[in-house]
Amino acid sequence: MSFTTLGLDSSLLATLAALGYTEPTPVQRDAIPAVLAGGDLLVSSQTGSGKTAAFLLPALMRLLAPAATPGMGPRILVLAPTRELALQVQKASHSYGGGQRLRTACVVGGMPYGPQLKQLGRAVDLIVATPGRLKDHMDRGRVDLARVELLVLDEADRMLDMGFQEAIDAIVARIPPHRQTLLFSATLDGVVGRLAERVTRNAKRVALGNAAQKKLDITQHALFADNELHKGRLLDTLLRDTDIDQALVFTGTKRAAEALSISLTGQGFVAGALHGDMHQSARSRTLQRLREGRMRVLVATDVAARGIDVPGINLVVNYDAPRGAEDYVHRIGRTGRAGRAGVAVTFLNRGERHLVRSIERFTGNVLQVMVIPGLEPAERSRPSGERPGAGRPPSSGKRPWNRPTDHSRRPQQA
Ligand code: AMP
Repeated sequence: MSFTTLGLDSSLLATLAALGYTEPTPVQRDAIPAVLAGGDLLVSSQTGSGKTAAFLLPALMRLLAPAATPGMGPRILVLAPTRELALQVQKASHSYGGGQRLRTACVVGGMPYGPQLKQLGRAVDLIVATPGRLKDHMDRGRVDLARVELLVLDEADRMLDMGFQEAIDAIVARIPPHRQTLLFSATLDGVVGRLAERVTRNAKRVALGNAAQKKLDITQHALFADNELHKGRLLDTLLRDTDIDQALVFTGTKRAAEALSISLTGQGFVAGALHGDMHQSARSRTLQRLREGRMRVLVATDVAARGIDVPGINLVVNYDAPRGAEDYVHRIGRTGRAGRAGVAVTFLNRGERHLVRSIERFTGNVLQVMVIPGLEPAERSRPSGERPGAGRPPSSGKRPWNRPTDHSRRPQQA
């Protein structure tokens, strides 16, 4: 199927062709015609699925027509959970907008007010914002949302996780009710479902099966580790694999991200850290180095890493296990992007075995237990008995961790 059947303007089709997009992704195929038809939409979509273009292309179509109401305020408003994601959406709007003259503003927390006030002082077509900072500007009368025709809530589940519910409700209350509203989220249940009921009308659902069960081109492994020292040695081995272009390593805390990045640098890797305590300019510099391939290993926390879209990342390591299956999906979605294959390795200690099952249930994918010869976990931390659903024992009938030791220390799949 090609983009031409979706009802997009020829200028947008030309831009997509120039970007090398030959066919729409499933979320684009289903969502774009529905958005162009004008109704509200709830989309269960995964990061990496092409959802940004699914809402930006119809948004850009709207901007090709003159505004119904005169004024300075935005016609399109995109709310996103993090600075990184917001900046990425803004950047994508210019890339998908091609030659279109597009006035955008990015209004996000953790950045100085001055430049944002300047941007908001001019006429703007599209604002991408994190809810807290936008509400702040709104409360001070710096932004007028009366012209908003299209509201997009991107990664709504994560915005609610981050405590933005009140800010979202306050913002939505200031947008004309006849707007079109699109809500994108990994899940549409629970609190997200309730938010959807409040902000949309007769919304159509676009559920691409279970979003989390989308077939990702990511090989997923679990690697049992005894302790921090063991984890460090496992990570060192994984990162020395020459097939790895760039790697993203997740830690549970900002402090751990900082410490691990220092230690990897000491081991000779070109590594850096990305976490919420860093100043925005340092975060941007780090991401720039990663994008330009000047950094091979980035150690990050969950929130800081959201929105990272660097095709060179072909390994994600969960150095500290994710809190749950949803975080897991968001983390591993940083690899296997733009049609490339990726590998995700999750370090687990004995007490974290239960995570394997919940991840497998959520994603529908099996986590293969992997052992690195010479770095097998100690007897006591090996899983005992059957681990339902996890990596199958090899055909020899031996458990994967009882493989004969090969001192090449290349990772092997069990
Ligand atoms: P997203 O889920 O919107 O973050 O997009 C994930 C990645 O896929 C980004 O790098 C996009 O540039 C890329 N992408 C989006 N749509 C397409 C498409 N139809 N064909 C090829 N790449 C795409």
